[in-house]
Amino acid sequence: MSTEATKPTNFIRNIIEEDLNSGKHQSVQTRFPPEPNGFLHVGHAKSICINFGFAQDYQGQCNLRFDDTNPAKEEIAYAEAIAEDVKWLGFEWSGEIRHAADYFDKLYDYAEELIQKGLAYVDDLTGDQMREYRGDFSTPGKESPYRNRSVEENLDLFRRMKAGEFEDGAKSLRAKIDMASPNMNMRDPVIYRIKRQHHIRTGDKWCIYPMYDFTHCISDALEGITHSLCTLEFEDHRPLYDWVLDNITIDCHPQQIEFSRLNLEHTITSKRKLNQLVVDGHVDGWDDPRMPTISGMRRRGFTPAAIRDFVQRTGVTKKVHTVEMSLLENSVREDLGENAPRAMAVLKPLKVTLTNYPEDKIEELSSPNHPQKEEMGKRTIYMSKTLYIDQADFREEANKKYKRLVLGKAVRLRNAYVITCNEVVKDDSGNIIELLCTYDENTLGKNPEGYKAKGVIHWVSAEKSLPAKVRLYDRLFNVPNPGSAEDFLATINPDSLEVLEDARVEMSLGDARPEDTFQFEREGYFCADRYEHKEGQLVFNRTVTLKDSWAKIEAKG
Ligand code: ATP
Ligand code: MG
Repeated sequence: MSTEATKPTNFIRNIIEEDLNSGKHQSVQTRFPPEPNGFLHVGHAKSICINFGFAQDYQGQCNLRFDDTNPAKEEIAYAEAIAEDVKWLGFEWSGEIRHAADYFDKLYDYAEELIQKGLAYVDDLTGDQMREYRGDFSTPGKESPYRNRSVEENLDLFRRMKAGEFEDGAKSLRAKIDMASPNMNMRDPVIYRIKRQHHIRTGDKWCIYPMYDFTHCISDALEGITHSLCTLEFEDHRPLYDWVLDNITIDCHPQQIEFSRLNLEHTITSKRKLNQLVVDGHVDGWDDPRMPTISGMRRRGFTPAAIRDFVQRTGVTKKVHTVEMSLLENSVREDLGENAPRAMAVLKPLKVTLTNYPEDKIEELSSPNHPQKEEMGKRTIYMSKTLYIDQADFREEANKKYKRLVLGKAVRLRNAYVITCNEVVKDDSGNIIELLCTYDENTLGKNPEGYKAKGVIHWVSAEKSLPAKVRLYDRLFNVPNPGSAEDFLATINPDSLEVLEDARVEMSLGDARPEDTFQFEREGYFCADRYEHKEGQLVFNRTVTLKDSWAKIEAKG
């Protein structure tokens, strides 16, 4: 009963459809469970698209639940940023935002239930001792001397743990499973620890906190989750997920299904390492446009549609793989190529004087906002005696392949006239500071007569243009897999940011609002900075370069 025949099939979709067809479930209920200890990154975007996407595809619901069992590292600001990211990506969670902390009372009761059933005990071993007793893959663990305390003693101690009678770490509650299990997660995992730590939701109410593995499965079950989708590193935790739910009184048992994480070349997807980049000042915050965070990609100008498209292209599998950055960039190009209006911006200006253009004349020319989409309308661009072109678009001498302006030759100004360069003006040190050109007034929308223009270049009027700051971004890391480098900080690309303070942009860009995206013709896709761009202070970030060279476009302009 696939609701969307166009969606690619994958092993999770197969399971969901089987469950709906067999009547095991009437509807789909998923959840996205981030820990509010950092900003979400592109890997989380995948998890969001998968969890919210499956719910959407089958008219189900997806919860947003903060997995906030580790109060030491969690902050409200992170939680707020995460909720905003999810919304921005285009998803809506079901009902209120949930928190694992909402279930602390119930979790505590379930822990007592396990104690009553003889399935949990209070242990006095220290963390170090516990590690020693746990054994390893080749050595079975040793049972703790406290493992066989009576139910009464365990209950009494656990209640006193809750009441704050013991020091942090002095005792813990452990599930009584199997110290010889080949699965280390089943060797009597700790399910509660003593930790006097203020919690962003529950304040100082608790001095004991439940562990993730105990909390997650119960939270899922309490919310009636049907399919608990997570990444492969939780595969070995699934027996514990099931053990907890099988041994407490709860009438829902979600199925945990693991898929492979998204890894992206030339970047890292570890909150801890991203945090280090921020804290050590290698980037300008979590939402620096070079960061693979959702808020960084947003500030860079990536669109929600492009990110969703990219995630879909990476598929849902159990194979561990790393995808190339170009896959993400191509999704961005495709979306912006289709939807971003065109504009002209000269990033490194070179002055051009049209010697045969009337002194005070300003001509208004009309230019389509999108070459293929008439419905996107037109805008006015201004022609005048003094112009700017990009320094890279002029050479005194060049071979045939150079389809831009050359001394003594003609070039088309995009959406305007053909000009010919007659003279180069240089400063005392030989730098080119100005070009003296003539324009051909019979070339508006027409080929020149008797000669050819070679190529098309972008330009702006000197008088009728605006100053702008433009930031060019490159990959943050020089190697494809910085995460596996001994010191990932050593692989940072020192040239990942170039700031151009003296760019000139066409007048229409004076109306750009923060986060508006454009194709700056021949330069790439850019977006007005979310925070710094404002009227009278234009700041654009390069989202991604253009894929295609300009050379193919005819000299007609
Ligand atoms: P990190 O390893 O960066 O600290 P995390 O897994 O600890 O991330 P959580 O907040 O626990 O971060 O993640 C929330 C959800 O996002 C989890 O279900 C997790 O499996 C999923 N997730 C995290 N990283 C990725 C990734 N690279 N690809 C796909 N899903 C991911
Ligand atoms: Mg996690």
